[in-house]
Amino acid sequence: MSELGSEANPLQVAVVGSGPSGFYATEALLKSARAIKVDLIERLPAPFGLVRYGVAPDHPKLKEAILVYQVIARLPRFSFLGNVTVGRDVTVDELLGHYHAVVLTCGAEADRRLGIAGEDLAGSHTATEFVAWYNGHPDYRNRRFDLSADVAAIVGQGNVAADVARVLAKSVDELRNTDIAEHALEALAESRVREIHVIGRRGPAQARFTNKELKELAELSNCAAEVDPGSLELNAESRAELEAKANFISTKNVEILRDIASRAQGGKPRRLIFHFLKSPAKLTGPGRLQQLVLERNRLQGAAFQQVASATGQTETLACGLLFRSIGYSGIPVPGVPFDVKRGVIPTREGRVVDATDAPIRGLYAAGWIKRGPTGIIGTNRADSVASVKSLLADLPFFPQESRRGSEGLTPLLEQRRVRFVCYADWDAIDAEEVARGQPKGKPREKFTRVDEMLGCLERASQAHA
Ligand code: NAP
Repeated sequence: MSELGSEANPLQVAVVGSGPSGFYATEALLKSARAIKVDLIERLPAPFGLVRYGVAPDHPKLKEAILVYQVIARLPRFSFLGNVTVGRDVTVDELLGHYHAVVLTCGAEADRRLGIAGEDLAGSHTATEFVAWYNGHPDYRNRRFDLSADVAAIVGQGNVAADVARVLAKSVDELRNTDIAEHALEALAESRVREIHVIGRRGPAQARFTNKELKELAELSNCAAEVDPGSLELNAESRAELEAKANFISTKNVEILRDIASRAQGGKPRRLIFHFLKSPAKLTGPGRLQQLVLERNRLQGAAFQQVASATGQTETLACGLLFRSIGYSGIPVPGVPFDVKRGVIPTREGRVVDATDAPIRGLYAAGWIKRGPTGIIGTNRADSVASVKSLLADLPFFPQESRRGSEGLTPLLEQRRVRFVCYADWDAIDAEEVARGQPKGKPREKFTRVDEMLGCLERASQAHA
C-alpha cells in the first residue's frame, strides 16, 4: 500500500463551510508538503460565507479577501461541493467513511440572547437577521423589517452594531452602488428612522468597536453622532485600563468619543446617540415594540475584569425598532459534540473532543465554531493553520488505506437527488451576478434565492447544449 499523503494515496479531507476559516484551512492543507485532496462543502450554492453574507456592503475593501479565496480555489486537488447540507444531505459519519479527515469550519450562524421580557416582540430583531437580509442571504430573503419607526435602538457596541448603525444611518444614495441586496435597498429607501441609539452595558473604555469603525460613525455625512459628555467620565479602573499600552484601541475609542462630545453636528437628517452603562431590562408593547426599558449600570471589579452591575435605576426609551447585536453563537452539527453554553464545538488544539475530553479520530474544527465569534477575518487564518497542524500531526494514526473522497461522496449525493454545485458552476453564477449589477453601477446584484442560483445554472447549461 502506498504511503498516505503520497501521490498514489492522497490524504482525502472534507472541509465543511466555505467562509474564511474554511478557505484558510483548505489553503493550509493544499500548501502542505503532502499530497492532499480537499473537498470544500458548503450548504449554499455560493461560497465565501461571512465575507459574502456578513461583511457590510459599504466595506468593499474587506470583501477583497475573496480575491485570495479565488486563488485558493484554483489550486490543484481542490473541489467545491456547494448546495450540500452536512447533517441533512450527508452525515458527518458518512463523510468520515469517505475521507480520512473532516474539518468543521461552519462559523457562528445564530445569536446570543438577552434573556429579557419582550425580547421576541415584533420590531425586536437580531443583528444577524438584519445583516444577512441586507446582504442577500437566501435564508433571510423573506424577512420583513418595519422601518416606519422614528427611533431605533441597537444593543451592543461591537463592530456588528457599528455595521447595523451605519446601514440605518446612511442615505440610500450612499448605499446604491454597493452590493447591498435590491430588496434591502428598496426597504431602506422608505425608512423613516431618524434616531439611532447605540447602547453599551459597560463604559466607553470597554466598547468593542475598532477605531476605524467608530470613526466612520462619527463622520457620517447624513447622520450626526452624539454622546453625553457626562457618560464619558471614567472610573479609576477604566483609566488604568487605558494606560495599558496594549489597550491602544480602547484609548483611541475614548478619544474619538470625546471628540464627538465636543462638537455639535447640527443640520443632518439623522442622529446617532451613544449610551453607556445601560442594559435592556425589558421590551414592552402592546402588540409590537414601543418602549425599551433600560437599567443603569455601574462597573464593578478590577481593571480589565470590570462587569456591569445593575443600580436599580431605570429609564425608558420610546422606540419601535430594536436590534440585539450582542455576539454570535454557533449552531450544532448533527452527530458532533457541542458546547451549548459557549456555542462552539469543543476542541483541544483543533481536535474535536467527546464528553470525556478524548479526541474523535479524524474530526477537527477551526474558526468561529471552534473559538467563538472573535477577531477579524484574518484572525481565522492562524486559527485554521493551527487546526491543520494538529490534523497533519495525526496522519500516522489515520486509517492508511486510500479513501475515495468526492468519488465516494458525489454518487451518494446523486442517489439522494442533491443538486450539488461545483466551482465552475459558482463561476457561472458569479459572472451572472456581476452582469446583473453592471447597469445599476453595483459590483454585483446577488441572487437571493437558491432556486434563482440553480435556475441560472440551468440556463447556462441549456445555452451550451
Ligand atoms: P463583539 O465585538 O463581541 O461585541 C458584542 C457587544 O455586545 C459588546 O459590546 C458586548 O458588551 C455586548 N453584549 C454582550 N452580551 C450582552 C448583554 N447580555 N447585554 C448587553 N450587551 C451585551 O461582537 P460583534 O459585534 O458581534 O462582532 C463579532 C466579531 O466580528 C468581532 O471580533 C468584531 O470585531 C468582528 N467584526 C469585524 C468587523 C470589521 O472588521 N469591520 C465587522 C463586523 C464584525 P461586553 O463587552 O460588556 O461583553
